[in-house]
Amino acid sequence: MPSIDVRATPLRRYAVREDQRSWISSQSGDFDPRNAYSLAIDENLEVPNFSGKWLWTLKTLPKIKVFLWKCLHLSLPVKAVLAHRGIDGLGGCDSCTGAEESIIHVLRDCSTAKSFWECSSYPDSFKLSFSDDLEPWIKKNSFGSTMAAGKDYEWRNFFLLGLWNLWLQRNRRAFKQQPANPDLVKVVEMQTRELMYCVLEPNGGKDRQVRQVKWLKPAEGWQKLNIDGSFVSTSGLAGCGGLLRDSSGQWIVGFAESICVSSSIAAELWALREGLGLCLERGATAVEIQIDASAAISLVASNVNTNGDLSGLVDDCRDLLMRLPQVKLSHCFREANFCADALANLGAASSDLSIVFDSPPPVLDKLLLDDMLGSYRPRLCTLAAGHVS
Ligand SMILES: [Zn+2]
Repeated sequence: MPSIDVRATPLRRYAVREDQRSWISSQSGDFDPRNAYSLAIDENLEVPNFSGKWLWTLKTLPKIKVFLWKCLHLSLPVKAVLAHRGIDGLGGCDSCTGAEESIIHVLRDCSTAKSFWECSSYPDSFKLSFSDDLEPWIKKNSFGSTMAAGKDYEWRNFFLLGLWNLWLQRNRRAFKQQPANPDLVKVVEMQTRELMYCVLEPNGGKDRQVRQVKWLKPAEGWQKLNIDGSFVSTSGLAGCGGLLRDSSGQWIVGFAESICVSSSIAAELWALREGLGLCLERGATAVEIQIDASAAISLVASNVNTNGDLSGLVDDCRDLLMRLPQVKLSHCFREANFCADALANLGAASSDLSIVFDSPPPVLDKLLLDDMLGSYRPRLCTLAAGHVS
């Protein structure tokens, strides 16, 4: 295990539990027969790095994501790919006889595909990408909110459906000898609008609304702990922070710390552990805890035994929660957690910081005042999202 991974594996500080075996390469640490089989046949468990993971974040139909996944793995069964697998004698592209039928040929460079893209309303800024390689070309055209030239839809929606339809058209020609559809651009335009109005925003955006969110003081006799973790995957820097306030919104104690973890959920759990430790140190007896990461709450609140890398943190958090006489753990929106967020960022901005604040640091002055005054902060919510705090 590289030393950075060892440093990023949180150890138990509070909970007592005997050492136990944890299954490598499964996130939960539980035994996984598939991994066991791979180990038994000496298969390399390391998954090769796939640079196209961005495709899963696209806002489009699942079938198109799977189709793109095949394209980027060069496993779409066009003739060049099949020839590479040893199936010879298939010839070249059926449309423009002679040319090799590669994936990018079918989707862009074939005469049929070329005239399709030329008749489409692509924005000028995307023109240059049409001489890129397959992945950068698809990626560039699949993101952003640039509208198609002179149209009422975003270019990326048309582009992705265009790729899909060029592939279907190629298959109709290969297997049913159907000629290319001269109106394919119109067909794809109609599909794009259908996607926009029926799938992406079925209510024309009416299912979203701006809600006003604010930090709420805890009930009389209670204290409120807000905590947050920050993990920047690109730099690997992580921090956690939190603060405890009384029922009149007054500062009791706060903390900011730079930590070494390898995921954002580990940063949240670390923040919770530090926060709970401080509450106990300061003799808190009734604490409302708010976190803006529901995954961390469900992990700690569930009865499931964890055995993976996070088990040390989860066990500690559960143990500390038991020690507090009265405790409530709940989720809040990020807009109600700005002070903790600022402290976590403070921790993540340094590589070696661990401070307990008996009085608030100046960086929080404005945020604390806003919370104290009950100032609202806007948040775009879906109507299904329930609570406001
Ligand atoms: Zn061709």
